[in-house]
Amino acid sequence: MDLQHFRAPNTTSRLVGRARAVYRAIRDRRFVGAYELECPICRYTGLFKWYGDPPRRDAQCPHCRSLERHRLLKLWFDQNEARLRGGTALHFAPEPGVTRIFKPAAGRYVTADISPDRADRVLNIEDMPGEKSGEYDWILCSHVLEHVDDRKALAELHRILKPGGMLIIMIPIVEGWPATCEDADVRSEDHRAKYFGQNDHVRYYGSDVRRRITQANLVLDEFTAVEPNVSRYGLTRGEKVFVATRQ
Ligand SMILES: [Zn+2]
Repeated sequence: MDLQHFRAPNTTSRLVGRARAVYRAIRDRRFVGAYELECPICRYTGLFKWYGDPPRRDAQCPHCRSLERHRLLKLWFDQNEARLRGGTALHFAPEPGVTRIFKPAAGRYVTADISPDRADRVLNIEDMPGEKSGEYDWILCSHVLEHVDDRKALAELHRILKPGGMLIIMIPIVEGWPATCEDADVRSEDHRAKYFGQNDHVRYYGSDVRRRITQANLVLDEFTAVEPNVSRYGLTRGEKVFVATRQ
């Protein structure tokens, strides 16, 4: 009786453990992508994972957790490392994975965020009176401009770049839209999520983003996710890294 008494919980825990393992297997299989891909950041090769809401298949590297945009940025980095080397750099809203790629190339690397405790400096990208004009050789600004007054931000970014300095920009964009979707009356989080794709975005860019950038006296170059890189590295077709240079 005593033995049975002690066996019973063991059996139960074994069953619970088995049920958990089955659940995990189902869950993982459900979220595994369809194709063997290569991560240009950590060099993992194999199946990627679904990511996002709604989920995108083949989106996330299971080893370093990179997403499509991070891998595109790494491909741009690999082609432009010589231009970045030794420069004074500023990185807004730094994601640790992106910092790991870019920081080793910089001579001096400063991270910045509008929220405290997230980066080396607390900076409002729209107004940076503490930053000297012509200070930076390159500035990383990925998924920031859609949160702020981009006219003010681009003017400030232009000011703090050295002549010949580069501003590296990524944004959510609908290339099929000639005009950016923007409405100052859309203020609530629900409405921002509905119209701009996220509850703290203030616009959804259309293809006219190029004019906004060049109006800040920056010369624009574009690095696009094309084949064979899309199917090799799991990129979003047509996604862009915008590279704006101060003359
Ligand atoms: Zn990876």
